[in-house]
Amino acid sequence: MRYTELGTTGIKASVISFGGIPIQRVSVEEAADILSACKESGINFIDTARLYTNSEEKIGEYFKGHGREGWYVASKSPARDRDGMLQDLARSIENMACDYIDLYQLHNVSTVQDMERVLGPGGALEALEEAKKQGLVRHIGLTGHKPEILDTGVSSGRFECLQVPFNAMEKQALPLLKKAKQKGMGTIAMKPLAGGALTLAAAALDYILNCSWVDVAIPGMQSVREVQENCSVVEGKVTDKERRQLEKLIAGLGTHFCRRCEYCQPCPNGLNIPSMFLFEGYYTRYNLKEWAMERYSALPVKASDCTQCGVCESRCPYELPIRKMLKDTAAIMGK
Ligand code: SF4
Ligand code: SF4
Repeated sequence: MRYTELGTTGIKASVISFGGIPIQRVSVEEAADILSACKESGINFIDTARLYTNSEEKIGEYFKGHGREGWYVASKSPARDRDGMLQDLARSIENMACDYIDLYQLHNVSTVQDMERVLGPGGALEALEEAKKQGLVRHIGLTGHKPEILDTGVSSGRFECLQVPFNAMEKQALPLLKKAKQKGMGTIAMKPLAGGALTLAAAALDYILNCSWVDVAIPGMQSVREVQENCSVVEGKVTDKERRQLEKLIAGLGTHFCRRCEYCQPCPNGLNIPSMFLFEGYYTRYNLKEWAMERYSALPVKASDCTQCGVCESRCPYELPIRKMLKDTAAIMGK
């Protein structure tokens, strides 16, 4: 494993670190096995969130059994006011059985109003600055999907780390990453595999590790095999042929694709929106028609059950035309 300074925080993090979204989908025992594999591979930085259902608890269970020593722990909260943030921080600390959290972040600040709220008097940032003085939090970070909104936070000089989506296909945050890095902030690439769309993981991670404006990438990992595969990229064995294959894959994906971030969920009508697009993608792009149709058929609610209410579109950070995409999915998958 290779390690890098996360800005000026003093954290020396593994360049491939652990994104905590997928462990929601595995058992406590499997999560512990995955985290043990991370440790064996040299991963020392975990990123999770209050919103990732039981991800924090599973990390906490692992720490209770194996100890927290040697790990840097990051989490985040969607709270926008001081009291909400203090409550969430206390919950994160309890969930992860920690005395303190190395990096606590404002989660997905996505509107001008939200940014004004978190930075203003009685805002969430005030709570984290208090918590830092008390030693409950070592460093404060900012996350989100919209560089034009996050720019205000980066310019404020009150955050030590920035976490944004960045990968070989989604480079819109590059100028902001550069600005953050030049201000001495740590920079973290979330969605390094574009929510699973970049199936050539080694080449996709290699692309990020070669970007001087990014400190660490945090791919989500839901198996020991994925941990080993992702960590192997630091051995520098990615070939030019694999890089060309990645370019071809990106060209085939276009712009209207779902990153599986799940911010659009829950749908009031029970549609599992990212799964719809996942199976449609496998059906149309990966020559796995039978496999995709079998799984799509097993979903209790189909794309054709969408009532076109639009709630999901207001939540999608990529502003995808979900309703139109679901109509297309229903046409392709037959229901
Ligand atoms: S538009 Fe369709 S998928 Fe989106 S929230 Fe409404 S019913 Fe669910
Ligand atoms: S539709 Fe948008 S919000 Fe929903 S999972 Fe896909 S990218 Fe995320």
